[in-house]
Amino acid sequence: MSLPRTLGDLRSSAFSEQRLRTRRVKDELRDNLIARVRQCPDAPVFPGIVGYDDTVVPQIINAILSRHNFILLGLRGQAKSRILRALATLLDPQTPYLAGCEIHDNPYAPICRRCREEVARHGDAAEIAYLPPEDRYVEKLATPDVTIADLIGDIDPIKAARGGHELSSELTVHYGLLPRANRGIFAINELPDLAGKIQVGLFNIMQEGDVQIKGYPIRLPLDVALVFSANPEDYTARGKIVTPLKDRIGSEIRTHYPSTLEEGISITQQEAWLRRDGLELHVPKYVREVVERVAFLAREDKKIDKRSGVSQRLPISVLENVISNAERRALRSGEHTIVPRIGDVYSALPSITGKLELEYEGEMRGADTVARELIRAAVAKSYATYFKDLNMQQVVQWFELGGEIKLADTASAQEILEGLRNIQGLTEKLAPVGVKAKEKPEVLVSAAEFVLEGLHAHRRIGRTEERVFSAEKQPKRPERPFERGDDEPPVMRNRRPYN
Ligand SMILES: [Zn+2]
Repeated sequence: MSLPRTLGDLRSSAFSEQRLRTRRVKDELRDNLIARVRQCPDAPVFPGIVGYDDTVVPQIINAILSRHNFILLGLRGQAKSRILRALATLLDPQTPYLAGCEIHDNPYAPICRRCREEVARHGDAAEIAYLPPEDRYVEKLATPDVTIADLIGDIDPIKAARGGHELSSELTVHYGLLPRANRGIFAINELPDLAGKIQVGLFNIMQEGDVQIKGYPIRLPLDVALVFSANPEDYTARGKIVTPLKDRIGSEIRTHYPSTLEEGISITQQEAWLRRDGLELHVPKYVREVVERVAFLAREDKKIDKRSGVSQRLPISVLENVISNAERRALRSGEHTIVPRIGDVYSALPSITGKLELEYEGEMRGADTVARELIRAAVAKSYATYFKDLNMQQVVQWFELGGEIKLADTASAQEILEGLRNIQGLTEKLAPVGVKAKEKPEVLVSAAEFVLEGLHAHRRIGRTEERVFSAEKQPKRPERPFERGDDEPPVMRNRRPYN
């Protein structure tokens, strides 16, 4: 179907005056949402948004049905921006506007003077252009230095002089981001960082369609769906948001981190860059779980700042880094399959430490130590879910009898497997993670290493920083008291004397 190119053709098309003249953006979002929900009531309204089906998504749907401006309140990495961007999928595939208009005026009800004059001059011959949905979504990160000029506009004296206009005429305005988002969605991230004066300007536009620029009153009755995001503490802090603006935000919707490990894993799986060209990739389930648990434990850890949160970007970057460490090993040793190990999680510290905002106690210990403790606690938990009921005494005993083995993260599977075979019974105990003794070396080594790391995390065997596993040295005094996150208190056992 070819689109009408003049106002006259537009009138007799599906974009009739009756349909378009009074249809505001929020009506459009509502209409398209209704159609989507009617068509497939069970299909996700926002594909790719995981874990919000029963909490955030219904509230957003209600806000759109109510034609509200709304705000998403949540900590870092809770997919707020992603949800806001997904709103663009609820816009019409094509939106006609008066060609050449900087603020994409409605052909039947232009608000800028240029367009009103254009229509008066050319009538039905006025030219029509079209906007796709992605061009109707404008996003701005609020910072304290954002000005009225950035957001709303500025008086352009040159434009005024050239055209012989009054400075208060809208023909002299150089439009800012918000007018340019006219007939679309305007998203402001971190709203509380916007200066009070700008918030007032924003409110005036929303409320009256009037704004003052450099003291000149300018009339701009814009048609914009405004959506915002903010950190909940900043938003509720007194004085951060001017009350009348808060009052105009119809719905306040709280986002959250994934509530189950499975949801976290599927978000990470979806977002992380996993396809490495060339080599086959096999990421064991327990590795994914450990990576995800690091984030879950960090969110509860008192050494980590709760107000800034632990972003979902943490497990995403960690998984990428874990795979890269395994990829590097595979490349060096000429293996055809990349199979990450728990040791690779420890090698992924650089993707953890920068994403943790530490409290005083955490600062004292250092980011590296905090991150290592998180991994160890995560391994302990995951290990317990698989091997709780399995007797590992035989394996522990091998170490207690003086056995030692080094599992360097750079050592090939073949090389390590020979050593592991000396530990009687180890490779036969891997059934709980679905690994049989005849599995490929890469898979077998990863699973067996998980067992050893698990025993180490539960303090049944020892391990040095150089990844040498040996008997647990009997501490004179526990290294640290039992903490939440450990599955069991450190066991104080006497090494069996033998002679
Ligand atoms: Zn215009």
